[in-house]
Amino acid sequence: MLAPAVVARRRTRDDEVQDLVALLLDHADPGAGPPPEAARVAETVAVACLGDNHLWQDLQLASRAELSALMRHWFPALVDKNYHDMKWKRFLYKQLCEREEIFICKAPSCAVCADQRVCFGPET
Ligand code: SF4
Repeated sequence: MLAPAVVARRRTRDDEVQDLVALLLDHADPGAGPPPEAARVAETVAVACLGDNHLWQDLQLASRAELSALMRHWFPALVDKNYHDMKWKRFLYKQLCEREEIFICKAPSCAVCADQRVCFGPET
């Protein structure tokens, strides 16, 4: 169950949720399950992105590994793109920015970025 603050945020940030859902579904594996189920998972992940915690925590999963397994099952093409194992919420928003050709990162690449620890590393 999502936190009340997340549910409330959705009312004002539904465009963002819909962009995230579209991103996820564009990378869905049609063999993973019925389309309505994929849509339900995509919406749940997208709405949880509005939370304040790590995405796996706002999805009430046991660990980041569990979230990665969920992503691999439903959205394997996104897992393939996240080959550097960026934190999932960061990765999804970075994908949205790149789609819009908005580059918010301060550094030319992650390897030389001072914010690397924010985007990568342990999520505990
Ligand atoms: S590490 Fe730096 S360059 Fe890479 S995604 Fe994060 S902010 Fe952007």
